[in-house]
Amino acid sequence: MNNSPTLNNFTRSGILFVLSAPSGAGKTTLTTALRQKPDFVYAVSCTTRAPRAGEVHGEDYFFLGRDEFLARIAAGEFLEHAEVHGQHYGTLKSTVVDNLSKGVDVLIDIDTAGAADIRNCGDPFILSALADVFIMPPGLDELAKRLRRRGTENEEQIATRLRNAASEMKHWRSYRYTLISGSMEEDIEKFRAVMRAERYLTRRLDIPGL
Ligand code: 5GP
Repeated sequence: MNNSPTLNNFTRSGILFVLSAPSGAGKTTLTTALRQKPDFVYAVSCTTRAPRAGEVHGEDYFFLGRDEFLARIAAGEFLEHAEVHGQHYGTLKSTVVDNLSKGVDVLIDIDTAGAADIRNCGDPFILSALADVFIMPPGLDELAKRLRRRGTENEEQIATRLRNAASEMKHWRSYRYTLISGSMEEDIEKFRAVMRAERYLTRRLDIPGL
């Protein structure tokens, strides 16, 4: 009788991909491109900021009023939450935990303070799932150009975002991976390489019988 394990029925634990990048670094375009291939769940964040033209409730964000957001904080619904550019942003715990528990990978796009909260959450389940990635913009001048080209913020808001970008860029060493932003295609390819490598980590695999 052959007792050798069947190598096609292995299981893998879910990965929590945490992506941070200063605004204007091309992160939204990157996540939109990555989301075309449905090999992970994108956990849609909640925010109190107003929707930009073309943004869809439930797809880009859950756009909540301030009172509702604060009530959800009080109810412990967020895995992490932070105030960014004067608005509240938060990741719903249920989406992340439910998917990871089923072995489904999750991608969240959060600021450096939110990523630090997750690193410090003390939950072994979340920490073993974590793979955090920082997208480093090619420079503040280029970032300013990209923000002006996008045209969704006025000069004052652009100045706030650039100040925040400069301070966010100081946190890159806390991340497992740092991708220096190049063209959109390069950024997608680099991010996919990280996803592939993380999926082959020995400690994420369970092969019955071995
Ligand atoms: P934007 O307003 O440009 O969509 O996002 C502004 C910043 O908020 C970005 O750095 C983005 O990563 C961050 N952000 C979006 N969702 C969340 C979230 O759920 N939690 C935290 N901490 N930051 C978030």
